[in-house]
Amino acid sequence: MKKRVILWFRRDLRLADNPALRAALDGDFDSVVPVYIQAPDELGDWAPGGAQRVWLDDSLRALSNALEALGSRLVIRRGPSIDALDTLIEESGATAVYWNRLYDPLTIERDKAVKQHLDEQDIETASFRANLLYEPWTVETKQGQPYKVFTPFWKAVSGRGHDAPLAEPERMPEVWSRIGTLSVDDLALGPTLNWDKSIRETWTPGEDGAHDRLERFLDAALNGYDDDRDRPSVAGTSYLSPHLHWGEISPRQVLHRLDEWLDDHGGRNVREHADSFSSEIGWREFAHHVLYHFPDTPTRPLDPRFEDFPWSGDEDGLACWQQGQTGIPMVDAGMRELWATGYMHNRLRMTVASFLTKNLRVAWQHGERWFWDTLVDADLANNTLGWQWAAGCGADAAPFFRIFNPARQGERFDADGDYVRRWVPELAKLDAKHIHRPWAAPASALKSAGITLGTTYPEPIVDLKASRREALDAFEKIKN
Ligand SMILES: Cc1cc2nc3c(=O)[nH]c(=O)nc-3n(C[C@H](O)[C@H](O)[C@H](O)COP(=O)(O)OP(=O)(O)OC[C@H]3O[C@@H](n4cnc5c(N)ncnc54)[C@H](O)[C@@H]3O)c2cc1C
Repeated sequence: MKKRVILWFRRDLRLADNPALRAALDGDFDSVVPVYIQAPDELGDWAPGGAQRVWLDDSLRALSNALEALGSRLVIRRGPSIDALDTLIEESGATAVYWNRLYDPLTIERDKAVKQHLDEQDIETASFRANLLYEPWTVETKQGQPYKVFTPFWKAVSGRGHDAPLAEPERMPEVWSRIGTLSVDDLALGPTLNWDKSIRETWTPGEDGAHDRLERFLDAALNGYDDDRDRPSVAGTSYLSPHLHWGEISPRQVLHRLDEWLDDHGGRNVREHADSFSSEIGWREFAHHVLYHFPDTPTRPLDPRFEDFPWSGDEDGLACWQQGQTGIPMVDAGMRELWATGYMHNRLRMTVASFLTKNLRVAWQHGERWFWDTLVDADLANNTLGWQWAAGCGADAAPFFRIFNPARQGERFDADGDYVRRWVPELAKLDAKHIHRPWAAPASALKSAGITLGTTYPEPIVDLKASRREALDAFEKIKN
């Protein structure tokens, strides 16, 4: 009897280094049926946000084209996942379902239910590690506990190394023409209002786009990574985060290609930059480790003292922050970059998160939610870790009293003001000396730059010094 296997694509939208796909092709099967199932309800509050959906729209088209080029095709169905798989099993006569593992709590729960259901039907199931270098449950402290601090975590695992990535298949078996599919358009992932144009212009979702990004980064930016990654006006980082989130490239492929590139080009200096870059991939591993072991952290602080923190509930402040209208140029520039491109530079993510949670004292969950809806790389593990870190309540958190001064951040990391000029064009003519503190600029400088505070650009919505003091006082209340 002919044996068929369903390959269930989720956030592993690639053909190379895809362990579930490789196992399906190497197994005792005549046919492999690739399927993507849209089932946002199964992800509860963490279904893909608007920007992620735009990304997914393009990424599914890219995957579908790549499968067709190999002689296969992508079958697209709507959930619930169990029902969609049952139907496809019936239609295809499949005897097995393979997938790659994910680590967020609702997906783990869903996958367990799917596995149990399929076991009961005598359908073979197998899942694989594709998204991480190290499974979260294989890493523990000497006391047998999960890690809560990055440096010892990375020290414990980075020495383990990683295997070589799996090659992309050269051909794939045809999918029976009788098996029907929805089109990507049927999923209606794009927005009804046309706000996605600049996101689509900025990015090339899909496996090819991911590898292009990596090559561009290696050739043009790796050799300055350690210095330039903090300068938001420079393309000094890899921009791989959305590609990694959707599994269009694996962390193993990234590190393997980095090693190859270093063999060809590496001097000692480049290797130092490469180590810094690898450790950022390590932060991604760490974030997934923390989320796996502390699944409540997307909504609750890891440090329980913060359950009682006196947040301000400042809704007007939150709205100004979301719209990039706080009157603090670095904050506004970051928030506008996010809105326009679905991305924000890491230095800005830290700055705007500190401003929201400390200067405005708005609960970090509100910022986390806004990022979730607007980032193309919104990732439950990385976003949760980032927000709890910035708010001072999570794993490896910056202490609460480390409050970024956004004006000083600008003077340090955007000294010539180019980043602010790009995203806050109202300030474009202001000289570098004043661009990060327009409220302190002499009237003559504002006038010659065509700026009237409160009219052409907002007055600051908070006093940075006074709000810093208030945040520290609030922290005193929960400190012990
Ligand atoms: C408040 C806040 C929210 C964040 N939300 C997200 C998010 O939703 N999704 C996301 O991918 N990253 C998030 N980050 C982490 C970081 O800002 C981005 O990963 C990074 O800016 C992506 O740009 P890049 O790919 O050019 O990074 P590079 O510097 O080139 O780093 C390479 C890769 O390492 C990983 N990485 C880098 N920094 C971190 C980090 N601090 N934590 C975890 N992984 C990291 C990413 O996968 C990234 O693509 C957040 C950080 C903060 C402070």
